[in-house]
Amino acid sequence: MKQTAYVNGRFVPMESAMVHIEDRGFQFADGIYEVVACFNGRFLDMQPHLERLERSCSAIGITLPCTLDRLAELVQETWSKNPFSDAMIYIQVTRGVAPRSHLAPDNLVPTLIITSADLPKPSEAKLNSGARAITLTDFRWKHCEIKSIALLASVMGKQEANRRHADEAFWLDSEGHVLEGCSTNIFATINGVLVTHPLDHQVLGGITRNMLIRIAHEAGTKVEERAWRLDEVGLTETMMTSTTNAVLPVCIMDDKPVGSGLPGPMATRLRSLMLQAMDALRSA
Ligand code: PMP
Repeated sequence: MKQTAYVNGRFVPMESAMVHIEDRGFQFADGIYEVVACFNGRFLDMQPHLERLERSCSAIGITLPCTLDRLAELVQETWSKNPFSDAMIYIQVTRGVAPRSHLAPDNLVPTLIITSADLPKPSEAKLNSGARAITLTDFRWKHCEIKSIALLASVMGKQEANRRHADEAFWLDSEGHVLEGCSTNIFATINGVLVTHPLDHQVLGGITRNMLIRIAHEAGTKVEERAWRLDEVGLTETMMTSTTNAVLPVCIMDDKPVGSGLPGPMATRLRSLMLQAMDALRSA
């Protein structure tokens, strides 16, 4: 499919979709992004994604160039021009274009781009074996709750994971608590309880993280948001969540098996419930 992008008020062919070299997104990574999944034209948790975008923008002093309702219309329109059956909508807002200087002039017009692409998904082989991951001591900034486009640490983490034949790198704090991945949140099953790091400045409030917690509650599974470590007694599974992975078991961590080393019952059950919710949306 020939892709069409939304750039600052216009729809243009992907090849000619451009922003200025003095865009502060390019010069300073001065911007925010969102990724929304869309099934058959129906968006998964659109409102929470848009609200997170607004929160992140507000945290760095960017005023969205339109209302959230208008943004939802533009997202819908972007999908209509690129109607992938399972789509990944990417939204990026930057502070705008200005001569390069750290301090931005007031009243810049923010740059807004939206694209729609095929939603990447884990392969069957990956689902059967589970993901492999590594851990790294966290070297990111102290505002991970902001969905910033400044992703250099995440890029470096993913490169290191890839170099070690792993799919994801998870950040550990100085006491060995597992925070989140480069582009995912992480949960563990500990004595039958689903555990994940609480929302603070060290983790992004993943929309899929929220969905998993909701689904687990509905399924009668106990959920605890607390600091946790990989060497806790009773830990049998780990799994990661993100818009593109839904929930995916993580079965090898730093070359060692997690629990049995195979996808466990908690991840398998919750994944199937999550896929059911996506199917229901698809055929709504
Ligand atoms: N944590 C980080 C650091 C991420 O980059 C992402 C995905 N962008 C997530 C968690 C997962 O967020 P979501 O479930 O909203 O895709």
